[in-house]
Amino acid sequence: MRITAKTKICMVIGDPIEHSFSPQMHNAGYKALHIDNQYVYIACRVSIHTIDSFIKGAKATNIHGISCTMPHKIAVMPYLDEIDKVAKKIGAVNTIINNDGKLVGYNTDWLGVLTPLEKLTSLQNKKVALIGAGGAARAVAYAITNKGAKLLIFNRTIDKAKTLAEEFGGTAYPLNAAEIINNADIIINTTSVGLHDKKETPLPQKYITKNHIIFDVIYGHETRLLKEAKKQGAQIIQGREMLLYQGLAQFKLYTGHDAPETVMRKVLL
Ligand code: NDP
Repeated sequence: MRITAKTKICMVIGDPIEHSFSPQMHNAGYKALHIDNQYVYIACRVSIHTIDSFIKGAKATNIHGISCTMPHKIAVMPYLDEIDKVAKKIGAVNTIINNDGKLVGYNTDWLGVLTPLEKLTSLQNKKVALIGAGGAARAVAYAITNKGAKLLIFNRTIDKAKTLAEEFGGTAYPLNAAEIINNADIIINTTSVGLHDKKETPLPQKYITKNHIIFDVIYGHETRLLKEAKKQGAQIIQGREMLLYQGLAQFKLYTGHDAPETVMRKVLL
């Protein structure tokens, strides 16, 4: 144990939180860089009903960094002293830095989307079908439109798809417009379809071809969507890649060091 009174505390807050991989991932990174005496990363369950008192407490202490997961990414925003412009545009904060009591909010989720995609292809002028219009979809929409791709948004509640399309630029469609999804170069699922019921998929297998890149942001298991995409010969990106790359960007914000990707990836595997 190398923790001392000088060790900076980082944490992830959420409710529930017990399933989080973030403490293992960040602490493995600190250890690999021999900075595990300078930083420690824990998880705290914080109810949505007590988020205001949590933030007040954080300002009053020297907690260094706070990662936010469900349901806090939007809820924390009114309590922060400053929000960077990317997080403002996305409309969600997943990373908070405490600068001597001044809390500054950032968003690294969009990098979690962008980095694995750009490892496979350039996004310039690509047609991207975004399935879903919730919180995760906003980070995807920002990443995609920022890189000159054309955005097609498909959602069960069409009004939410329309709002997102107006905000980020793109076209909204109902979820059942599978023939249009099929015409995209890249298909990204940000719905929770396939998360709990592993037999569910947001897109029937027959619409997937070997020319597609299929990204499912659900993590923890390989979804039916990705299994079927593999069968069709498509390139796939697992949800844990998003988790990894948003975490690597957070690591840099918390410590100033480049994150040790191989070590942190190993934890997620
Ligand atoms: P939200 O609740 O904000 O959005 C959920 C989305 O799923 C909405 O578009 C909703 O449609 C759609 N949806 C839910 N159930 C159904 C259904 N039965 N049929 C069709 N559409 C459905 O959730 P988030 O965006 O925060 O999270 C979505 C997923 O992304 C989760 O599985 C989460 O774990 C994952 N995620 C992964 C991350 C990573 O790092 N890999 C990071 C963040 C999230 P509607 O608008 O009609 O309700």
